Parts: sequence; structure tokens; C-alpha cells
Amino acid sequence: MLKNNLGYPRIGAKRELKKACEHFWAGKISEKDLLLTAKNLRKLNWLTQQEAGIDLIPSNDFSFYDQVLDMSLMLGATPERFASLANDPLTLYFAMARGYQQDGLDLKALEMTKWFDTNYHYLVPEFTANQSFELFSTKAVDEFLESKALGIHTKPVLIGPVSYLLLGKEKEEGFHRLDLLDRLLPVYKELLTRLSEQGATWVQLDEPYLTAHLDPSTKFAYQKAYKTLRDAFPELKILLASYFAELDDPEFTAQLPVCAIHLDLVRAPQQLEAVLHHLPKETSLSLGVIDGRNIWKPDYQKVQAIVNKVLKKIDEQRILLAPSCSLLHVPYDLDAEEALSPKLKQWLSFAKQKLHELNDLHRILTQNDTTSLQQNQKCIEDRARSVLIHRSKVKERVSKLTEKDSQRESAFDRRQALQKEALQLPLFSTTTIGSFPQTPEIRKLRAQFKKQQLSESQYEEKLQQLTQELISWQEEAGLDVLVHGEYERNDMVEYFGEQLEGFAFTQYGWVQSYGSRCVKPPVLFGDVERTAPMTVKWSTFAQSLTNKPVKGMLTGPVTILQWSFVRDDQPRETTATQIALAIRDEVRDLEQAGIRVIQIDEPAFREGLPLRKEHWRHYLDWAVKVFKVASSGVEDQTQIHTHMCYSEFNDVMEDIAAMDADVITIETSRSQMELLDAFSDFHYPNEIGPGVYDIHSPRVPTVEEMVELLEKAQQKLPAENLWVNPDCGLKTRKWPETQQALTNMVLAAKIMRKAP
Ligand code: GLN
Ligand code: ZN
Repeated sequence: MLKNNLGYPRIGAKRELKKACEHFWAGKISEKDLLLTAKNLRKLNWLTQQEAGIDLIPSNDFSFYDQVLDMSLMLGATPERFASLANDPLTLYFAMARGYQQDGLDLKALEMTKWFDTNYHYLVPEFTANQSFELFSTKAVDEFLESKALGIHTKPVLIGPVSYLLLGKEKEEGFHRLDLLDRLLPVYKELLTRLSEQGATWVQLDEPYLTAHLDPSTKFAYQKAYKTLRDAFPELKILLASYFAELDDPEFTAQLPVCAIHLDLVRAPQQLEAVLHHLPKETSLSLGVIDGRNIWKPDYQKVQAIVNKVLKKIDEQRILLAPSCSLLHVPYDLDAEEALSPKLKQWLSFAKQKLHELNDLHRILTQNDTTSLQQNQKCIEDRARSVLIHRSKVKERVSKLTEKDSQRESAFDRRQALQKEALQLPLFSTTTIGSFPQTPEIRKLRAQFKKQQLSESQYEEKLQQLTQELISWQEEAGLDVLVHGEYERNDMVEYFGEQLEGFAFTQYGWVQSYGSRCVKPPVLFGDVERTAPMTVKWSTFAQSLTNKPVKGMLTGPVTILQWSFVRDDQPRETTATQIALAIRDEVRDLEQAGIRVIQIDEPAFREGLPLRKEHWRHYLDWAVKVFKVASSGVEDQTQIHTHMCYSEFNDVMEDIAAMDADVITIETSRSQMELLDAFSDFHYPNEIGPGVYDIHSPRVPTVEEMVELLEKAQQKLPAENLWVNPDCGLKTRKWPETQQALTNMVLAAKIMRKAP
């Protein structure tokens, strides 16, 4: 029974790679220094895994930016526009990742998109009809040799040919990217030849798309690819890795001609039976039994039960033990955390700890190590009963929820009439999404406060002053529904997590999001409870400064859940319901305190959709429900807004409508309002603010272009239902452009009101 690891984090335990890359981009360190940092990080990773007793240690899982981009470079899939940079591979690489504006060139970066349902983003390969491939970079071979020089025999990891093509996009019409397979396979063969020549015995080919719907032509592509590789390399052990969901067709996949198949048995334990049933005698199975996406210790007994089940069907030599997916998605090392409570720490494991768990499990399974098993059992039981986690009051409240708790008092029509009367807002009301520029001054204040160089009252006084200035500015600019600016918030999830029971925060729990960008998700470990109001002070302070309505600003339950490491001891919807109740109390307190418009942001609503469509219904039902639990405790007059910063709603329109927010603001400016079609086709009944300008760029939009967009919107939806706002929050923008843009936006709204 081999211990197999699929991939390791690469940003560095203290984000060394992030810092080195950013310094390199800023011209502060040399290429040589950057390469050295990377080399040291790889070495450390390999040694850590070797010490932990891992048998199949991955290589080529390192990346300066993204593993899909690495693949594109290895396969020579460089878009034409970068041709002039081909002589300087590292410059070419970062240009493809980040764009290039130098020496009279202005090259757009590759598009970036989410890696399946994770928060990691990859760079989308671009394909043309006459696309050619060649072995351009030999990164995988180089890194294999690098590990070999250290005396460590690694397993190179590549993205498999079919998934690589499926991850990309056709840049012209008239062909499908899978048509390119015949041209691509020779390059894979060349790469594998080089790897075998250097002594590689195992190679991992990641084919996560095996969990997507497989139509006949896709199946044909997989068959062709793996038959070609098997024929060319009968001796090479190919590990075909799937993860994040169940295989679409276990029978088909089990019979692909490879040496071993990896299954994610944390996300999709139900697939095991079918795979076992169809697995040919000579194929091995890599059991992904340790959660590679979350940070909880596994229950060894449960893993043991799974492996024992497998042992009934196939013998020990054909079993590999593994994490469910690459450990890229969890932080490095729990040992580095000094501030977490020792109790909580006992229940957690980061990448390094997961390696040791593999070892424990291996000993338990092969040497009957009862000590480790018992220790784990104690820990699991302790967690199951801990007062840190379990609050009976919260559980009771969740169990007592009724249908009525997720329903507003009256239907939208009536609420709309009452709100119009209460709020006295004009047609084409103007507002913003919440945050205003987080200037260096504000960041400095927060840093000083954290380091206790500023007292709480000093800090708050400064923030009050800024909030006051912002309210005056918005009044002068003529905005209709004002915001307080969110200056007191570092992050829209962390801010709430810090004030709620059930959350903990790590010091170094960073995970790569894209390139050098990392996020540090809170740990949602226990029953969530709000013990005191969270935002009322700032909202009422802002409201006290103006007669115009100030919007209360909250983060919704789905987004808080989605952007945290969530407990795995109860269904996600139960945790989301607990958060929803906390938000519901906050909404009510805001209303009580005189706040008449309240926004509950749900930017992560869509990304929570499961990978496989058959799981969508269940998710959407509870996601809509928890939003309604959070938002329905108010009177008809109180106006509930929500915000989602994207606009692809086509397949979930019914559910968006079911959320029944009085107003939804969405992102539409870059699509010239085209994305609003989903709402007009659906005859979306409630009010809606399609973003009229892109907040991702410093560019100031003209009055005319915003009028034009609003006219388009007006053709699609009734004017009485339209709001005027930017695409998203303004925290990453600078002041001058923000002021100009919003001034123009208000002018555009005024023109619309006058229009015949
Ligand atoms: N209210 C938040 C802000 O304006 C919303 C951010 C988001 O949608 N991601 O910053
Ligand atoms: Zn947004």
C-alpha cells in the first residue's frame, strides 16, 4: 500500500514565493534570486514529504503562477501575440500571466477563471484552428532532475491531455478544441519520453474533467489519448487522477488503459462501489481519503472502513493511500500557528499534518497500530462533544425555524408601494455597492491599531471623521441612497467572523488564490452565534449625519460559508442556517435603530453551485432559503438589497427571483447590459441595479456612455424598477477617479429621469 501525494502548496509557509515574485516584478530582485527562492521552496517541500514517509512525492507541482500556464508553456501553446517574447521564457511566462506593457508592446494577459469549484484561479489556454504544439519548456523534466539530484525519486505531475484541452478556449470559430488532440499527443509523448529517459517510473496525469458530463466524442478523446500513451510507454506507470466530484462514468473510466486511478473519496465516497465493480484486475486504485480541500483531521475509523471495503475486492499491492486532491488548497503547517486555542488546534491539520496522517493510516492498516487509532478516536470524540463547538441554544433555534421565518410579510408589489412611500426615492435612484476607496491612509490606521500604536478610541475617531466626510461628499454628489463606506472593515467575511462565535483566525493559513494573491479563510469551527450587534454602531452613526437613507451593509450567509474553512461535522446548509440567523438578528437590530435600507451581499452565491448539475437543486434550495431567513425578519417598509458581482444568471433565474430581495445589484457594464437579458426574459419582477461602470479599472466613464447603458436597460426592464450603481464596491479604486465617475453617474441618472 503506497502513500501517494498529489501535490503540495508552493507559495511558501510564510508566502516567500509571493514576496519574491512581487519583488521581481517590481525590479527589486534579480531573476537569479527569484529562481533560487523557488528552488529552495521545492527542495523544502520534497524533503518534508520524504521525511513524512511519502512514497509517491509529486514534482512539477511547483509553479511561479499557475500549473495550467506551466502546461501551456511546456506544450508550446503560446498565443501569437506573445511571439516576440519567445527568447526570454520567464518574461514570456509572466507576460502571459499578467499582461505586458513595455517597449511599445501592449499585450493582454490570458483570461483567468476559477479552477473547478475552488477559489484557485487558472489561466485559460487559447487555441486557434491551426493551433500547433511543440515541446517548448521542459519544466517537468527539469524539476524531476532537480529532485533526483537531491536523491529523491519523484512522480512528475502533468495535466492530462484531454483536461488540458477542455480547460482552454477556442479563439476562433469552426473547430472544437478536442479536435486538436492528434496534434497535442505527440508533444505529450515527447515529454514522457524525456521523463522516462531520466528515470521517471510513475507519472500523474490529472484529468479532473472525468467528473464532468462525458459525451461520446469526449470519451473517444480519453480513449484515444490513454491508448496512445499506453502503447508508447508500456512500462511507465500512469496514475490517472480525478478529483472534486464523482466520476461521470465509473465503468468507462475504470477501463481506461492506465496503471492506477485516483478517486476523491472525501467529496464523492459514493462512487467507490461502482469503480470497484468495474476495475480491471491489473489496475490500481488511489484512495483519496484525506480531505485536500479542508483542514479537519479525518476520522481514522471511517477511513479504515473504506479501505477494508476495498481490501475485500483487491489486494493490498494495488491500493494507494492519498489525500483527496492536491494539497494546494490548504495552508502549509499548523505547527506555525501560535494563537489558535490548543483545543481547536488538536482538531485541525494543514498540508504537513496531512502527510503524517497518511503515515498513521498506513501503519494502522498494515501494522495494526492501535495507539494512533485510539488517539485519533479520542480526538474525534472530543470534537464531537466539545462545548467550544456545540451550543444547544443555536441548534434549538435552527430546529424551530418555520416556513414563516423565510417569508416577508407581504408580496413584492405591496412592499414596493410601501417602500416608495416611505423612502421617497426618485426614478433611477442612485447608490453604490458599499465600500469606498481603502486609501493608504486607512490601511495605515488599521495597521497602527493592530499594532496597538493607536487606541481603539483614536482609531474610531479617525474612521468617524472619514465616514463623516464621505457622507457629506455623497450628499453633495447627489446620490440617493448613501453608504457609510466600510472603512472599518478589513475584509467582508473576516469582519463578521471576528464578531461571531464559532469562528477562529489563523496567522499563516494562506492559500493561493491566483498568482501571488493569497487568501486566509477563517476557520468556521462551531455553532455560529451573534452575541452583540456587529454593524449597528457604524450604520447609525452614518445615518445620524444625513436625512437621506443610509444603507446597512452585511455579508450574506452563503458568502460567509463559501469563503471560510467550514466545519465538516454537519451539513453545510445547517451551518449556513446558523449564520443566517445571526444575520437576521443583525438586520432586525439595524431596522430597530432606524436603518431603512439594508443590503446583504452574496457575491459567492453562484460559485457555491456544485460541479455536477444533479446536485444543483439541493444547493439552490438551501442557499435561497438561508438568504430568506437572513432577510425576512423585517417590516414591509424596510428595503432589502442584495449584491452579486457577476451576472450569469441564465440557469438560476428562478432561484434569484425566489430570493425575493427588493433590489438586486449586479455586474453588467462590461457586457453592455447584454447580461441583463436573463432578467428581462424572465420578466424579473423586483427592482434591479445593473452596474453602469466597471470598477476594476481606473478609467472614468463618461455621462453619455452611462446614459446609453441605462437606455438599453430601460428597453429590457421597466424604468420604475431600475437603479443606477457601479458594478461592485469601490475599495480598490482611488479617490479622484471615484469622485469623477460617481459624479458622472449621478448626472446620467438625472438625464434619464428627464427623458420623455
Ligand atoms: N459591499 C461590498 C463592497 O462594496 C461588496 C463586495 C463584493 O461584492 N465582493 O466592497
Ligand atoms: Zn461585488
